Parts: sequence; structure tokens; C-alpha cells
Amino acid sequence: MRPAAPITQDVLTIPRKLPEGGLTNLVGLTREQMRDALVAAGTPERQAKMRVGQVWQWIYHWGVRDFAKMTNLAKDYRALLAAHFEVTIPELVSKQVSADGTRKYLVRITGGHEVEVVYIPEESRGTLCISSQVGCTLTCSFCHTGTQKLVRNLTAGEIVGQVMLARDDLGEWPIPGAPKDETRLVSNVVLMGMGEPLYNFENVRDAMKIVMDGEGLTISRRRITLSTSGVVPEIARTAEEIGCLLAVSFHATTDAVRDGLVPINKKWNIETLLAALRDYPRLSNSERITFEYVMLKGVNDSDADARRLVKLIQGIPAKINLIPFNEWPGAPYQRSDWERIEAFSDIVYKAGYASPIRTPRGEDIMAACGQLKSATERARKVRAAPQAEAGV
Ligand code: SAH
Ligand code: SF4
Repeated sequence: MRPAAPITQDVLTIPRKLPEGGLTNLVGLTREQMRDALVAAGTPERQAKMRVGQVWQWIYHWGVRDFAKMTNLAKDYRALLAAHFEVTIPELVSKQVSADGTRKYLVRITGGHEVEVVYIPEESRGTLCISSQVGCTLTCSFCHTGTQKLVRNLTAGEIVGQVMLARDDLGEWPIPGAPKDETRLVSNVVLMGMGEPLYNFENVRDAMKIVMDGEGLTISRRRITLSTSGVVPEIARTAEEIGCLLAVSFHATTDAVRDGLVPINKKWNIETLLAALRDYPRLSNSERITFEYVMLKGVNDSDADARRLVKLIQGIPAKINLIPFNEWPGAPYQRSDWERIEAFSDIVYKAGYASPIRTPRGEDIMAACGQLKSATERARKVRAAPQAEAGV
């Protein structure tokens, strides 16, 4: 077996410097924070709640970023807002569209760092896969993002901003006066892009509260799935404070194998993780937990693995999402053969669990699970060691 990776790598954490004396961005503030900010800027206390309601609707329901267009506010109040605040979202650097319609956005955040966001259209829904960190401090050995050294937590505004940016690109903001269109292009959100969301808990929570808010983006908690590699102490909090659906990157059925794939297992092993998961549906009043299982040839894909898996999760309302391994340059694994994946799926299915095989989407643009890694990072590497990147 390959040598086990350390649980967290030696990261370069970039401090987030806010421009001094600059305008405060309203995007990413919870209703309460927005209220306090508006009051601090001179909004009378007794109007504060109403003002939050109005501004909130402009930003999150109508997608308006310019105070001058917030026409139900008096002119001098609009001027007051413009003097103190801005409504900004991360900048779209580039967009790639896959042959299968998947869109990958490269997005630049404050400080010049970049994250990737993926939109996956399907027949009955559209899923937006968003990032919670630049890079990831964890080093799962099969994941491209985990090889990126540069790490910083995204702010709540940068997380909500990814949803707003996708709506901009898809033209999904409502048009005033037009009949209400119930079809949603971004109907579901998954926190499955770059980063470990539970290592950035508060920002992810605040961002999801905003995304769920019924007078704004209105994506219900049952249409949001947070994927974690298994940060056990934050799982109950996720249920209580966010209440969204949970997915867990499980990927192995013995601690020995999981230690090598998902190094956080050395801190919280399979047994500890399963104990935390048993309480989740009850605490969050949610449905099933999704167990993500990446299919790695000869590593975790045997019939014995499938049988161990169903035994381990006994009693947990669950669905097993089998993810054919997506390759990336220099990856130390291969995708399991199709017949193997089907045989594995069959065993899980016969034990009473849904076991869909996730069709890789957007592979031609490196948008599939685990392939995300920012272009800045790639470019940096190419500059530093062109021969290594070229595989020489
Ligand atoms: N950090 C979180 C969320 C992001 S990863 C987590 O690990 O859960 C989203 C999913 O893609 C995870 O299940 C992850 O294990 C999986 N994944 C990572 N690299 C992959 C690859 N190369 N091929 C297929 N799936 C991968
Ligand atoms: Fe981080 Fe998730 Fe990739 Fe592991 S699989 S390195 S936790 S992004």
C-alpha cells in the first residue's frame, strides 16, 4: 500500500485582508447582521426590520446589485446605502461548457485566489456544486483538490455569491411584471466542490441560511446536500444549525484502507463516524444519508467490501452513491471496471439500499468529482516545474 498521507498537509494559509475604510459587502450577512449594519449606518431602529426585508428582496429575490435600482426605497436612503455598502459577488474569470451541458466556472475571490463551481443540468433538476474553501487542508489520496497547497476559507458572501453568479450566468433572476416561472434552473445545491465544508462551519452555515431563506433564493434545506469527509464533532451541529441533507465520503470498509484514502479517518475512525451518523436523520429531521463511495480498482471494490459496507451501515437510512473514480494527471489510482462497479452496486441494492452509479459529468472539462483544482494553482506549478507537470 502507498504510504499514508498526513492528516493535514503543511498549508499556506492566506490571511484575509479586507480593504480598510472600504464599503461593507451586504452579500453574506445574515438578516441579523444586516440589521445591525444598517442601524450602524444610520437607519432608525424602528425601521430596521422593514429595511432589511426590502434590501434582502432586492439582493436575493431580484438579483439587483445597484442601490439606485432599488426603487421602493427613498432616494436619500439609497444614497445612504451607497455611501456605506456594496453588493458584490466573486468575479467570473472563465466558463467552460462540457459536451454534456455541464458548466464549470472559474471564480476569483478577494485576494486573487480562485475556486471552481460546477453546474450540472439534469432532466428534472439543476444541481450547483459549490466550493467552501480554496483548496483543502485534508489530503485524500484520490482527490485532486487535496494536492493543492494553497488554502483559505471562503467567507459566507463568497459561498452565497457562487449561487448568485450561477443565476446570473443562467439568466435565472425573475423579471418584474413577468408571470411567475416555477421552473428552477438551480434547484439543488451540493457542497461538494473544493474544500471540507465542516472545517469552515460558520461561514457555510450562514451562507446556507441565506440560500434557504424564503424571501430570497428559496432553495429548501432538503435540496441542499453537504458532503463531509467525516469531521465527526461538527456532524450533530450540521443537523441542528443547518438541517440540510448530509453526504459522507465513506470510500472504504476497513480502517486500514480508509486511513490510506481519507486520512481524517486516523482521527475519527469508521466506528466513531458511524456513531455520529446514526443520530443525524433524527436530529435534522432529514431523510437518508448519502454514502459516497469512490470506486478504485483493486483497492475498495471487491464483493467482500460491498458486503462489509451493508453490514456497517445497518440501521442507518442510507443511499450509496457509487462514484467511478475520475482520473487526473498523476493520480495514483484507476477506475474500477464497469462490471465490477455493477456487481458491487448489485450487492448493495439487494441488501435494500439504493445504489446509483454516479455518471461522471463534465469530464472533458475536468469538472467531475475530485477533479477540481484552481487554474492559478495549476499555472503556478507549471511555472515552477514544467517538466514535472508534463510528466517527464
Ligand atoms: N471535502 C468534501 C466535499 C468535496 S469532495 C468531502 O470530501 O466530502 C466531493 C466528493 O467527491 C467526495 O465524496 C470525494 O471523496 C469525491 N472525490 C474526490 N476525488 C474524487 C475523484 N478523483 N473521483 C471521484 N470522486 C472523487
Ligand atoms: Fe478535501 Fe474532500 Fe478532497 Fe478529501 S475528498 S481532499 S476532504 S476536498
